[in-house]
Amino acid sequence: MKNLFQIHDWKIIEKGFNPDKQIKAESIFSIGNGAFGQRANFEEQYSGNSLQGSYIGGVYYPDKTKVGWWKNGYPEYFAKVLNSCNWIGIDIEYNNQKLDLANCKVISFYRELDMYNGILTRKFISSFNDNKTIEITSRRFCSMDNESIAAISYSFKPINFSGKIKVTSYLDSNISNNDSNYNEKFWLENKKQATTTTSFITTKTKKTDFIVSFAMRNRLLKNNNEFQTNVKPIEKELYVANQFDFFVEKENMYEIQKHVAISSSISSFNKKNIVLKVNDSYEIGFDNLLDNHKQAWHKIWSNADIIIEGDSSAQQAIRFNIFQLYQTYTGKNSNLNIGPKGFTGEKYGGATYWDTEAYCLPFYLKTSKSSVAKQLLIYRYNHLQKAIENAEKLGFTNGAALFPMVTMNGEECHNEWEITFEEVHRNGAIAYAIYNYVNHTGDIRYLIDYGIEVLIAISRFWVQRVNWSDDKMQYVILGVTGPNEYENNVNNNWYTNYIARWCLKYTIEVIENHLIDSKLLSNKEKKQWQKIIDNMYLPMIKNTNVFLQNDGFMDKEMLSYNNIPMNQRPISQNWSWDRILRSVYIKQADVLQGLYFFESDFNYNTIRDNVLYYEPFTVHESSLSPSIHSILFSLLNDPEKAYEMYLRTSRLDLDDYNNEVHEGLHITSMAGTWLSIVEGFAGVRFKNTDLHVAPIIPKNWKSYQFKMIYKNEPLKIIINSKSITIVNLGNRHEVIVYIFDKKYVVNDSITIKC
Ligand code: BGC
Repeated sequence: MKNLFQIHDWKIIEKGFNPDKQIKAESIFSIGNGAFGQRANFEEQYSGNSLQGSYIGGVYYPDKTKVGWWKNGYPEYFAKVLNSCNWIGIDIEYNNQKLDLANCKVISFYRELDMYNGILTRKFISSFNDNKTIEITSRRFCSMDNESIAAISYSFKPINFSGKIKVTSYLDSNISNNDSNYNEKFWLENKKQATTTTSFITTKTKKTDFIVSFAMRNRLLKNNNEFQTNVKPIEKELYVANQFDFFVEKENMYEIQKHVAISSSISSFNKKNIVLKVNDSYEIGFDNLLDNHKQAWHKIWSNADIIIEGDSSAQQAIRFNIFQLYQTYTGKNSNLNIGPKGFTGEKYGGATYWDTEAYCLPFYLKTSKSSVAKQLLIYRYNHLQKAIENAEKLGFTNGAALFPMVTMNGEECHNEWEITFEEVHRNGAIAYAIYNYVNHTGDIRYLIDYGIEVLIAISRFWVQRVNWSDDKMQYVILGVTGPNEYENNVNNNWYTNYIARWCLKYTIEVIENHLIDSKLLSNKEKKQWQKIIDNMYLPMIKNTNVFLQNDGFMDKEMLSYNNIPMNQRPISQNWSWDRILRSVYIKQADVLQGLYFFESDFNYNTIRDNVLYYEPFTVHESSLSPSIHSILFSLLNDPEKAYEMYLRTSRLDLDDYNNEVHEGLHITSMAGTWLSIVEGFAGVRFKNTDLHVAPIIPKNWKSYQFKMIYKNEPLKIIINSKSITIVNLGNRHEVIVYIFDKKYVVNDSITIKC
């Protein structure tokens, strides 16, 4: 696999300008702060191939559903995360020619994303038509310290000329989504004002009425000193600008510092008037804002970093994944969640998927305060009523809930029937997340106050979704799509049947163990649940230890993925949909997803046989797949395969494995990458709330280390090929840790030879 950009422990580096890579680089070099984010579009005009992208968390448009034939129960709309105001715009014009790297000669080009400090930098030298050459350095960040602020320092030096230059710094809300179903524009102008100091624009979304405001204030400098010149305010529809027209002298350095404040009606950062906000930021000044921003990042890294010695490619990759996750979600706002593409592209609508519960929640559980993971659970709790209504629309009763597969506000907003109606396994992941959270934190109060309601409603859904088969004399679940979306409308997807049965069992256990009001579940209902638990059909492949992915799977032509010619991969981009559906190829961990969740229910041989059986058919065309495989291969003590899968998950976007990084990054699967080190290589598990560690180490790594929150206090774990060190960083006198199943008491720290 070829690296798209250079390897560095803390940076992503691009040297030399390659227009073919620009749209991919725009995704990779994206920046954000959990409240909003921005693709790495250029500040100055760029007429080459580009996907302009600026996104505000939670601000969406219910784009009217487009389908062939309407089916009852289809959601009315497909939510789109809105591409919003272009706030980075700074155009440079000399002699009636705009600086535009698609048209001007590019003499040198360097771009870096500094992940330690959260800064995107670009330096280039370019010349206008008459060989007038200019050197540009731009630095920008979305403040991690103040979630309504972003800032840009854009400096330029005329190298071989003096003359008049026009600089236009603007906010442009005349923006549309690439994926708009009917080529509609989604923004309406509410109010705007351009002045010689602060300018702002307030917009409203059509239908959803979200109010989003952007304000800017620019400071001009010459050789690092403030510089006064005439400013022309410009107002156009959905657009405000400040234009500076002035004489520049050869070899002198000019800089425009652009302060931007952003607020939306969905976020708590709306409190203060946007103009005051940007004025405050202007007074604080670019350098101080940047320092505060860097410190906020350093704080995140001090808890969430993973240090790998001896493998820069793996090191860069894990930091890239952690960096992008924290750019997407910080847990500050209860209305927000984690879109599969975060703030880096339009696909997946910025909406919430099962990815959050199955992948992201365990990451935040172990790297942040427990309130962050709890917030993700409360998000679903707040949607419970809508999930009940969603199930009612499909004919379910008695408070059964079907949480949406894709949502912005609790309503289902995805319209492919095989996903919306059939990928019901998402209900299981939501219940599993409750179990995971309680197991890690011991927060029984959460279970009693919130969790149990969600568990009961989900269980009631499963009870009605199963049916008794007289033929099998067991309960079956018909017409589902499992995690493997390369087969639809199957019967008895093992994973779905298993997790449905587990939900029923866990809900009963919670009620019984925590003496929860028995009126919540009548004895009659409980009996019915127990009957399903005892008689659920869990298909197996005859004479093996292997669970059958779903009915009919064995009728397929059993060809391993090695049979797919390289030029036909990924099959999703090269084969017809019906050919994919008929093939044996598995998009992502399916049976294996179940073995990962419920590992303690199975012995080593069963896990091994299933992994070895399904892996050769798995094409990993969902980003969510390789991390689960990596974790299972680590469990099976196969560091080589685990490492191959680790690279695949961690460098999926950096090396563009699936040829789709131009659409945006795979944010939710990045949490899987973190898990493939912590749960995979390090073998971290919580068994009955006890911490277990059983590490392996990839051949080429000297050591790796990470911090982790365990029962609300931090621990540090350092692993090399000869020893394991556990450091107790919290306020507890002692921590009990099981290393390879042997019990140790850690006061300050212990090192065990292995
Ligand atoms: C996967 C789903 C996932 C979605 C969003 C799809 O390609 O198959 O499991 O929820 O992407 O990440």
